[in-house]
Amino acid sequence: MSDIQTTLRTRAAELLSSGEVVEVIGWTAGRFDNQTTPAFITKAEDAESLVFNEYCVNTTSKFSLMERGLGKVAVCVRGCDSRGINRMITDNQLKREEVHLIGIPCTGMKDRKTGEELLKCRECSYRNPVVYDELIGESVTEPELNRFDAVEKLEAMDQAERAAFFDSVYERCIRCYACREVCPVCTCKSCFVDQLAAGWQGKRSNVAENKFYGLTRVFHVGDRCVECGECQRACPMDLPLMLLNRKMIKDLDLLFEAGEAGLDAEGTNPLGTYDVNDVEEFM
Ligand code: SF4
Ligand code: SF4
Repeated sequence: MSDIQTTLRTRAAELLSSGEVVEVIGWTAGRFDNQTTPAFITKAEDAESLVFNEYCVNTTSKFSLMERGLGKVAVCVRGCDSRGINRMITDNQLKREEVHLIGIPCTGMKDRKTGEELLKCRECSYRNPVVYDELIGESVTEPELNRFDAVEKLEAMDQAERAAFFDSVYERCIRCYACREVCPVCTCKSCFVDQLAAGWQGKRSNVAENKFYGLTRVFHVGDRCVECGECQRACPMDLPLMLLNRKMIKDLDLLFEAGEAGLDAEGTNPLGTYDVNDVEEFM
């Protein structure tokens, strides 16, 4: 058993039995050895079922919204989870005092099917939590990487190649909306894709409608995306969703110096803010 897992169980039991929190959100064992599932622990005696291993693939941040109103909740956060929490605070979805953050440095999680490091972890440069109330384990070295590698290849394509590429991507989308459900910044109570009145998103699944969904979603989350990669991991059709997210992030940084979302709880909203000095070359 890892030191982190032992300490996590101890701390979860202490936090629950002292009444400091009403619930601890983390992970528990799944059906198979190489699988875990999100855990919502409310009794100190159940803290022993918490696990922390290389298959804790689910990000925890979005779950804290489901549990709002219960009382203070402890949430296990790595770099990706903590950025999601920060951004939810910026977006007025969560209050900092509603969560107790148990920080856990991360060395990357594995895909249970291939045993290889998850793509979202290979592309992650924030392996240590960016915010926490207590830290379990030693900080890890963060890799230096060019997360816009794939975006640069996309930009090098001509228009016809890009159109063909996106057609081939979006013809696979089955509009299950798993990408929306797991996203910590997809927090609208009423989503445009669920509207029934004419004039909103059509219900048919075809390349044009699917592209409309994908592009609209990127415009909704692009300036707040914390690059947790959870949408791409959850997609059952393996759509390369981070490519479009990162294209948006790269362009927003170029145009508005938007930076990286979720590194603190302040944040900016370049797509939701108007300034008379905004670049308007297209007008
Ligand atoms: S998770 Fe994948 S298949 Fe499902 S709606 Fe999102 S992009 Fe489409
Ligand atoms: S769009 Fe994807 S990568 Fe960005 S915050 Fe949402 S789930 Fe995470």
